[in-house]
Amino acid sequence: MEKSARPRTALNECVKVVVRCRPLSEREKNESYEEVVKVWPERGAVQVDNPKGQDKLFTYDAAYDCTSDTKTIYDEMVRPLVASVLDGFNGCVFAYGQTGTGKTHTMEGTGDDEGIIPRTFRHMWAHIENTASPDVTHLVSCSYIELYLEDVRDLLAKDCKKLTIRGQELNGFYIPEMTSIVCKSANEMVRLMRAGNKNRASGRTDMNEHSSRSHAVFLVTVETAHRSTDRIRVGKLNLVDLAGSERQRKTGASADRLREAARINQALSSLGNVISALAENSPHVPYRDSKLTRILQDSLGGNSKTIMIANIGPASYNYDETVTTLRYAHRAKAIKNKPVRNEDPKDAKLREYQAEIERLRSLIEQR
Ligand code: ADP
Ligand code: MG
Repeated sequence: MEKSARPRTALNECVKVVVRCRPLSEREKNESYEEVVKVWPERGAVQVDNPKGQDKLFTYDAAYDCTSDTKTIYDEMVRPLVASVLDGFNGCVFAYGQTGTGKTHTMEGTGDDEGIIPRTFRHMWAHIENTASPDVTHLVSCSYIELYLEDVRDLLAKDCKKLTIRGQELNGFYIPEMTSIVCKSANEMVRLMRAGNKNRASGRTDMNEHSSRSHAVFLVTVETAHRSTDRIRVGKLNLVDLAGSERQRKTGASADRLREAARINQALSSLGNVISALAENSPHVPYRDSKLTRILQDSLGGNSKTIMIANIGPASYNYDETVTTLRYAHRAKAIKNKPVRNEDPKDAKLREYQAEIERLRSLIEQR
């Protein structure tokens, strides 16, 4: 967070909330589950049929039904946000929802349906290749972390070492030892994402369960320097695949498992509390209550443009979880951010590199 570079007249901009409903799975079709979700994409509306009472209707910035593809969501909603990041704004896209509703399908993609994260990389590099010139240089660096039970792990470090978050609430938080890798192409970034995912999975026999219980955050920083004006803009983007939002079942779980479940839920309930506090304009926002909310502090109520993608399933047996997700998503619509372009922040790596080049050049000249 670059307080010193921030003008006082930042314009408020609400978090954009998008709902995506996945199709019935083969299993759900075979078991003849009824579909209870209706989506009206042209109105951004989602309705859930209530077998016992009144149907629930919600509206959002956009709503996508089971026929939609990730390309459309990217082009309509995410592309403008990534364009802003390339222009020096901070951004965040986070996927929220019950396990099995398509968070990873949306963010990373499956099979031929490329997700938002690799699409973002390709969009960024297409822009960089189009705009690079003797006057304009770019530096893209990536980090990838996982949050699990209040531990933050570095997915790009060999041993996935634990990381510490530092900083004061007022000045924002940062993670000093997090690996940051400079990338030169979209393919290199995709390879980093895959390497991080492999690290996430290694040594786990329960990868599906683990990924449904942990949060993955891919962080991209794009610096753009203009030689003629000596100006550097820095945009930071968080791409987040959250843990499953379902309530953990109590039956049959060991004491250890219950404690674990409570702590997993803590991060998501802290996120819910932060969203509520911001939506209600409360003077105190409890960012400090979990590491997830510390990391997302700027993305929620701060210097960022943010999109929440709420993923839901259409089948009747998910009714309660679906309505819970839709309510949560509806509340997030009221969050106001204050995005400003980050111009000439002190931590710009390009600035450091330029100073180093100048130092080496003068050393050579002295010889
Ligand atoms: P989550 O990450 O929320 O637990 P996944 O992304 O793993 O859920 O999705 C669960 C399953 O549903 C996967 O097999 C995935 O391919 C499929 N799926 C999810 N969303 C869609 C979609 N929009 N279209 C087709 N299949 C989907
Ligand atoms: Mg997943």
